[in-house]
Amino acid sequence: MIQSPLLRVLAAQAVLLTLAAAADPKPTAAPSATAPKASPTGYTDTPLIPGQKWRVHDDARPRPAVVTPAETFSHGAGAPSDAVILFDGTDLSKWRAGGETEAPAPWKVENGYMEVVPKSGAIRTKDEFGDFQLHLEFATPEVVTGNSQGRGNSGVIIYGRYEVQVLDSFENPTYADGQAGAIYGQYPPLRNAAKAPGRWQSYDIIFETPRWEKGELVKRGNVTVIHNGVVLHHKQEILGAVAHRNVPKYTPHDPHGPITLQDHSNPMRFRNVWIRPLGGYDESAAK
Ligand code: MG
Repeated sequence: MIQSPLLRVLAAQAVLLTLAAAADPKPTAAPSATAPKASPTGYTDTPLIPGQKWRVHDDARPRPAVVTPAETFSHGAGAPSDAVILFDGTDLSKWRAGGETEAPAPWKVENGYMEVVPKSGAIRTKDEFGDFQLHLEFATPEVVTGNSQGRGNSGVIIYGRYEVQVLDSFENPTYADGQAGAIYGQYPPLRNAAKAPGRWQSYDIIFETPRWEKGELVKRGNVTVIHNGVVLHHKQEILGAVAHRNVPKYTPHDPHGPITLQDHSNPMRFRNVWIRPLGGYDESAAK
């Protein structure tokens, strides 16, 4: 029993902080329609990222330079002949609800795109993939609500572990390692190539799965990310599973897994999603 009123307040705050940490990786509550709660643009009290001089979500870490992508960069133009089509604008038959469930994907499909139904949960592919090339297009809400991580947030979460951030980073200050295209909590994108809210944008993501031998990590995973035709990461080694306000760590997993799209309470749209497993040079198919 805590007798001192001050100690009771401190204890209550500790419980709230614990609850907030347990809710990771969603960093903030969804903004309400009437009074959006301001989201922090960064932190000063988080641990250092291993091997870096910056803290996780460091408010002082320089934001990447803005580069305006080419106006003519084309989107929605189909897929290579050997791609696995994950979403062609008509249905979510290649997807199911996130987490350990067989439930159908709870997002809506209309006008050739899928849209996050806020708070319905993430969706993940039914199929699993090892090394891959993934293409997807997204649009952040045209009507801007919230700020920082509360604005136009989703994510491509590889194997449910490694997040390439999706965010409205158009004139929206937030911590560098949480911007659009960041390897969330680890590496900022090399540039900020975001388009304006409501505009269609593209990601091309090339991923090499971590290599394990007898449960030991022998090669980190790495990722290349191209945003609207601009390279954000080039074979960047991933430091471990995504964490909010905490350091990333690896834990052993299969050399394949699903692709998850995050529900971060914003009505994000996606279209033209396809993937090509990278199996290496196929001698039998060569001519
Ligand atoms: Mg996210």
